[in-house]
Order: sequence, then C-alpha cells, then structure tokens
Amino acid sequence: MNQIATTQHQTDLSAHPGKGWVRISGLSVVFGEGATQTIALTATDLELQAGTFTALIGPSGCGKSTLLNAVAGFTAPTEGSVQVDGRNVNGAHPSVGVIFQNFALFPWFTARGNVEFALKRFGLSKNERRERAMEALGEVGLSDHATKFPGQLSGGMKQRVAIARTLAADPDVLLMDEPFGALDAQTRLRMHELLTGIWMRRRKTVLFVTHDVDEALRLADVVYVMASAPGRIIEKVSVDLERPRPVDRMSEGFLTLRSTLLGLLRHED
Ligand code: ADP
Ligand code: MG
Repeated sequence: MNQIATTQHQTDLSAHPGKGWVRISGLSVVFGEGATQTIALTATDLELQAGTFTALIGPSGCGKSTLLNAVAGFTAPTEGSVQVDGRNVNGAHPSVGVIFQNFALFPWFTARGNVEFALKRFGLSKNERRERAMEALGEVGLSDHATKFPGQLSGGMKQRVAIARTLAADPDVLLMDEPFGALDAQTRLRMHELLTGIWMRRRKTVLFVTHDVDEALRLADVVYVMASAPGRIIEKVSVDLERPRPVDRMSEGFLTLRSTLLGLLRHED
C-alpha cells in the first residue's frame, strides 16, 4: 500500500512539477536572412527542473544569451518552443527575473528606489513597497546603503541592488547573463557565496550564463556546454559536489570536473 502511494506521488510530481519548471523544445533562433543569416541556436532541447541551478558555458557567440533571452521572452523562437510552468512563453513575462552584467539600474533612483520601482506593477501600497524593498536589500546585505545612488556604490554593490530588485518581485526563475563578468575576482567570490546562500534559502530555478568554468562549478548542479556555428548544446555535465564549495579547498572532484569542462571547451575552439 505504502509503495503504491509512493509511486503515485512520484508520478504526480513529474506530471505537475513545482513552480519554476522550464522546458525548451526544438528551439532554433535565426537572425537575419540570406548571406547575412546567423543561426544563433539550433534544435535545442533543455529542461530545468524546478529549484535547480543550471549553468550554461561556451565560447563567445555560441548562443548563450540567445537561449536565455528566449526563456525571458525577449527573443522569439524561429522554431520550437519555450515553456515555463507548462505555459508557452510569447513575450516578457513575470515568472522570470533577469539579471544582466551591466546592472541596468536607474541612476536617478536610490538603491531602495530602484527596488521599489520594480514593485510598482504589483499594486502594493507605498509602505508595502518600501517594506519589501528593505527586506530584499537586507537579504543582499545592503540595508545600510538603501539611500545611496548607484553612482555612490561599487560594482558588487550595484549588482546586489539588481539582485535585490529581482528577488523583491519573487519570480520562480532567475535568469542571469554573465552577471559577475565585470567584477573583480574577490568581489566575484563574495557574490558566489551570496548567490549560493540565496539559492539554498529560496530554491528558485536558476539559469546562469558564464564563460568561466570555475564559476559554473562553484554554483551549479548541472553545467551545459555549448558550441558555436551553429549555436547548440554539446554536453551535459552533472556537478554532484557538496555545498558550499569553498575556493580555497578545491576537492579532487572539483578538479576532475574542471578538466572535463576545459577539455570540452578546448575542443570547441
Ligand atoms: P553568446 O551570448 O554565447 O556570446 P549570443 O547569443 O549573444 O552569444 O549570440 C549568438 C550569435 O547570434 C552570435 O553570432 C551573434 O552575433 C548573433 N546574434 C545575437 N543577437 C543578434 C541579433 N539581435 N541580431 C543578429 N545577430 C545576433
Ligand atoms: Mg552573451
């Protein structure tokens, strides 16, 4: 009896996965026409289980941003489909939050103002917006900098504001396109700790684009390796390393995975 119940439960889970489930089927994206045509992505299938952390790595121009933009609804598929929680993505939609490398903050708003502005569409009162913004800024360690303007903040702090802004809106899926690419090595490491903490607490589905193998291995459950011309996924590598993953104590498992990934990328150059 128990066994049947368990089996039933598992069946239900796969039929109705949790929120933040992404399915990409036969996705192709072609830019331009004729001689100037670029196949940015071809026949790509990818499934992200709810609450998992996935990294996409690959050389510049292999379609990483195109794939992420298709999930965000910013880029329409030429062929195939993208579904989030079983619904087709046909344009920008609120179940995803997107974080770019260049922060995309409004310079004329304070840190808190930037987060509050993103909450306008939720029909909250001014006080509720402020409360939620302060909560999110607290989560990224910026409570004491809420009234500063982006120009007064370091790169790492600006990116933390951008993360707070996204968290405040509470999307099911976080899409991050080389978010720490412009930060110095030390700040990057702190951002990895911060993001790992947020992910472990909130268990959002994360799709994280990077071309840094170590960054992918420090953060993700699964790494997909992409290749270019045409853009496509060539390999899936599972990362079953315990979290947190400190950089000063790289395990043998980490080093093995690193050489696997570097080998795959080298092969692609
Ligand atoms: P990555 O993020 O991996 O560097 P992209 O997804 O940005 O790669 O780009 C994949 C390919 O598609 C590249 O050859 C790029 O030049 C091309 N591409 C991307 N966006 C556009 C666009 N809007 N118009 C034309 N070509 C594009
Ligand atoms: Mg890109």
